[in-house]
Amino acid sequence: MRHKLVAGNWKMHGSFAANRDLLQSLMQSLTVNKNAEYAVCVPYPYLAQTQEMLKGSAIAWGAQNVSEHAQGAFTGEVSAAMLKEFACRYVLVGHSERRALYGESSEMVATKFAAAVKAGLTPILCLGETLAQRESGITEQVVAEQLDAVIQLAGLAAFVANSANAVIAYEPVWAIGTGVTAAQEVHAFIRSRLANSDADLAQKIQILYGGSVKPQNAVELFGMLDIDGGLIGGASLLAQDFLAICAASDTANAI
Ligand code: PEP
Repeated sequence: MRHKLVAGNWKMHGSFAANRDLLQSLMQSLTVNKNAEYAVCVPYPYLAQTQEMLKGSAIAWGAQNVSEHAQGAFTGEVSAAMLKEFACRYVLVGHSERRALYGESSEMVATKFAAAVKAGLTPILCLGETLAQRESGITEQVVAEQLDAVIQLAGLAAFVANSANAVIAYEPVWAIGTGVTAAQEVHAFIRSRLANSDADLAQKIQILYGGSVKPQNAVELFGMLDIDGGLIGGASLLAQDFLAICAASDTANAI
C-alpha cells in the first residue's frame, strides 16, 4: 500500500514570527496517521528555523528549488549538498512557477532532479500543463515530455535511489491558486507511462495532486485511485486548513 504524503509549499511567504506560530500549531494539533507522511517546503532562509522546530516531529521539511550544479560560481544558487546540511528530506523540482517565471526547461529540471537524488534528497517532481495546452488537447503529451526528460537524463533507477522513492506531483497550472481541480485521469496516465518501463516502480511511486487543494475537496481528491496525497500551496499557510488536509490523508484510495 502506498503511503499518502501531504506536503506544503509555502512559496515566498513567511517570517520568523509567522512560521513559529504556524509550525507550533501544526506540531500541537497534528494527528499522525501511520499510513501518511507530512512535510513543509519552505523558503531557504527559514530552513534553519524549520529544522530546529520540526526535528523529532512527524513533519519532514524541504526546499522549493535546488541548483543543478554541485558548487562553483553560481551566484544566488543553493546546492543539494547545502540542503542536506539542513537535514532536508524533500526538494521541489520543476514547479510550474519556476518553469514559467524562471525559464526552467524540462532538461534543466531533469538535471536538478538528478542532483537532488545524488545528494540523498527526495525530489518532488512537479509536472503539469497550462490551460492553453489542456484546451488544445495536449495534456498527456506535455506531461509525458516533462516526465520523459527526467527518465532519460536521470534514469528510472534515480526514482528509487534513496530510502524513499522520488515523488511526482501533478499540478495542472490552471488549477494552481484558482479554486478549480482536476486529477485522477492524468494521474493514471502518469502511472501507466511509468509502468511501461517499470511496473513495480509505477505501483510504488507516490503521485501527489496539487492545485487548489482545500479542506473542502481533500477527502474526495485523496480517495481517488491514483492520488497519493497533495502538494498544497495557499492552504499550507493556514494551520487549520493544512491540518484538515493532513487529516484527509486518512482517506483510503477508491478502488
Ligand atoms: C502550489 O503552488 O504548488 C499549489 C498547488 O498552490 P495552491 O494549492 O495554492 O493552488
